[in-house]
Amino acid sequence: MSLDQPQLDTSPKVSDEVRKTTCYMCACRCGINVHMKDGKVAYIEGNKDHPVNQGVLCAKGSAGIMQHNAPSRLRAPLKRVGERGSGEFEEISWEEALTLATEWLAPVREKHPEKLAFFTGRDQSQSFTSFWAQGFGTPNYAAHGGFCSVNMAAAGIYTMGGAFWEFGQPDWDHTKLFMLFGVAEDHDSNPIKMGIGKIKKRGARMIGVNPIRTGYNAVADDWVGITPGTDGLFILAMVHCLMKAGKVDLDYLARFTNASVLVNEDPKSNQFGLFLRDQDGQPQVIDRRTGQLAPWNGVGVEPDLAATHRAKGVTHRPVFHQMADRYLSDTYAPEAVAERCGISAERIRAIAADLARVAFDEAIELDRPWTDFRGVKHDKMVGRPVSFHAMRGISAHSNGFQTCRALHVLQILLGSVEVPGGMRFKPPYPKPATAHPKPHGKVTPGAALDGPHLGYTHGPEDLLLDTEGNPTRIDKAYSWENPMSAHGLMHMVISNAHAGVPYKIDTLFMYMANMSWNSSMNVGGVHKMLTDKDDSGDYVIPRIIYSDAYSSEMVAYADLILPDTTYLERHDCISLLDRPICEADGVADAIRWPVVEPDRDVRGFQSVLCDLGARLGLPGFVNEDGSQKYQDYADYITNHIRRPGIGPLAGFRGDGDDHGRGEANPNQIDRYIANGGFWIDHVPKNAAYYKPFSMDYQNWAVKMGFYDAVQPYIFQLYVEPMRKFQAAAEGVGERQPPEHLRERLKLTMDPLPIWYGPLEDDQVDLAEYPIHALTQRPMAMYHSWGTQNAWLRQIHGHNPLYVPTRIWEANGFQDGDWAKVSSVHGGIVVPVAHQASLNANTVWTWNAIGKRKGAWALDEKAPEVTKGFLLNHLIHELLPPKGDGLRWANSDPITGQAAWFDLRVKIEKSAVPNEAQPVMPQIKSPVPKAPDALAWKVGE
Ligand code: SF4
Repeated sequence: MSLDQPQLDTSPKVSDEVRKTTCYMCACRCGINVHMKDGKVAYIEGNKDHPVNQGVLCAKGSAGIMQHNAPSRLRAPLKRVGERGSGEFEEISWEEALTLATEWLAPVREKHPEKLAFFTGRDQSQSFTSFWAQGFGTPNYAAHGGFCSVNMAAAGIYTMGGAFWEFGQPDWDHTKLFMLFGVAEDHDSNPIKMGIGKIKKRGARMIGVNPIRTGYNAVADDWVGITPGTDGLFILAMVHCLMKAGKVDLDYLARFTNASVLVNEDPKSNQFGLFLRDQDGQPQVIDRRTGQLAPWNGVGVEPDLAATHRAKGVTHRPVFHQMADRYLSDTYAPEAVAERCGISAERIRAIAADLARVAFDEAIELDRPWTDFRGVKHDKMVGRPVSFHAMRGISAHSNGFQTCRALHVLQILLGSVEVPGGMRFKPPYPKPATAHPKPHGKVTPGAALDGPHLGYTHGPEDLLLDTEGNPTRIDKAYSWENPMSAHGLMHMVISNAHAGVPYKIDTLFMYMANMSWNSSMNVGGVHKMLTDKDDSGDYVIPRIIYSDAYSSEMVAYADLILPDTTYLERHDCISLLDRPICEADGVADAIRWPVVEPDRDVRGFQSVLCDLGARLGLPGFVNEDGSQKYQDYADYITNHIRRPGIGPLAGFRGDGDDHGRGEANPNQIDRYIANGGFWIDHVPKNAAYYKPFSMDYQNWAVKMGFYDAVQPYIFQLYVEPMRKFQAAAEGVGERQPPEHLRERLKLTMDPLPIWYGPLEDDQVDLAEYPIHALTQRPMAMYHSWGTQNAWLRQIHGHNPLYVPTRIWEANGFQDGDWAKVSSVHGGIVVPVAHQASLNANTVWTWNAIGKRKGAWALDEKAPEVTKGFLLNHLIHELLPPKGDGLRWANSDPITGQAAWFDLRVKIEKSAVPNEAQPVMPQIKSPVPKAPDALAWKVGE
């Protein structure tokens, strides 16, 4: 061996310093170590100590450097100088920008606060932005949940006090069979990957249910290529099989759900379909010990699933009887649904049998004693090791709420929620619908709103309607059109504001939502609405203020731009008051902090709101002497008190040793930084499961400040508030829906999960438009942010339309071909590619890859611009006319969730055009064009 081998440094020092913060390249909020060299970001790695990712970093996370250095970053406040939509702006100072915003907004607040519509997109500070909007006094606030996954979230809250992702997760350490329905792979990214890795290592099985086999479904042991929009039917067929075979957890159902609660069965009674209640208003069950009526939560009560009660000529039967009537019916037999779902009856039966076998024959026990809310002591925890996860795929349909309810009911019937091996909530969840606020919308000029905007309705009395029964919100949330719209309807704001229905607005104020491009249906129509002028030559939507960090397509349509920072340049707070980052075994929150200072004249949007709030004199943003209360967002994070002892961050409160509750701590952010950017406290072992029912958990939750008094509850298989809306449609009660909505409410507000076909199917000629069309989110991108990122663009530079074998062959497609894809609303011409692992009647593409010329500082010949495309051009926010003179929203009629995935199309071969069609006119870029080569090298 030669002795003069070169001396290699195998561990070069990559950084001078490591700064720990929270990733924002998607919504998972992993912990990251940002390596700094010469004061610049040199390298990003995962934080091994962080509860969310335990060191795992995905492609997006490591590409954060390129997001931070993106040429598309806005550089200074902008004031529109050309026509709206042209992209012509001049840079102005922050003082000018904030003075202008104050001049616009102050008179609105004084006279008609509802004429401000303030909506935020991928906002991770909703408890703060909603607090600001509440202080302003407008009822028109929401984030983007209405066009994302409100069906999943609201169905989960109403049914069991939480859903998946931020609210719950499979018990990855114990589950033996994991069933995954359609999910956005960019959203629940690292945590799901790590979870699937864990179960595969243990030899547990995974079933993927998705029309498209990519990503997580590609590594599933079984793939079920279901027909879009039929998930609810498939799930209820499995419910049918399980109930018929007696494979449901009767003991769990009796104790921990409302299966045993008695329901009035007299159609002539105005209580028909409602629970029998005692004088304290508590729902009644029959106690098996006495055979007598008892409140559901009485000490020692043993609810009877079978007993009925008859009094004053009225029969009351338990919910479980009603479920048997419905789900044992042949309507839900596998043979009856197989063709529609695209899954054979044998396969449906086999999957149901699999679920039952694992849940009951492979049950597990943990030797942990616990006490339930009736005072019953249990010496062990019994696990049904079957778990589920689902998100947007089953949610973004007009039948999505009932489908998500069906999935939650399926889990509960198996006894697999909040038990070892099943689905587990993440503190501070679960919280039942009754523990959330109701929606508020009472406007007083010059004053704050009467309470939080968003919440959960429990009957017609909670709707936000004026004296004539018209919606009081611009998005018509909490109206008869969508009575349970818990996240608002951001996707309807522009069209309602343009139409002046229910009223005209003055200012549209939005944050981080690309509403003129990939976040809107009917893109061309939205451009027109944003630029339309009235007879006087004024814009129909008079003023638009927008905040974003990047030169997105939306920027061109605003009058005033408030440029935000990148996520490495800002303070942020991932709060328990908002969308938590907790794990099932621990409560956790986190911060972001400026690991680098901005090199442009930009400010964190939340700090800007602190300033603007003070200029407008909003309550909560000024001191008694009128001075600015919070100098910036960091000041708010540290010193804001929401309830006694409760602030935005739960860790290191008081003198630094208080957690959950405690006084404000001036050094709190420093303590978070020293701790790696996060705080976690672990759930006591005997409180780790059965959280809604366990006094061990309930007492811990009160101590931590999740709520102020214990509030055990049972799961709501039967959602009584839905029955109240349905009863109103049948004519019961003072508050009555308009005639044209009665039949729809009677059908859709069923208190037990049902399935009905996607609404678009009823209004489109399915012989002409027979094919389903979907988008999926790739793991390597997050909304529109990814395809401007110099590293991530190399993974998905453009997006072909993937076509299944049957349609590929029928059209004689070849590699390199293009196709015209049409819906009743519009047409696109796009490149196609063959994919065999795809539902035979479904085409799809990646979401939000296509970009508009002039946006994002991309070259006009960039593949995202020339070959990339959006399906959004084919989708309208309204369903086609059906001849009754009305246009119905393309949304779920319960929550208003945008029904993106109901789309029907036809496809034909096209000549190869120069560029994907339609081509929108180029917009002028408010930032300089990117350099030809983008290199990033720090240090030697
Ligand atoms: S999963 Fe999301 S939050 Fe986590 S590292 Fe990747 S991009 Fe960042």
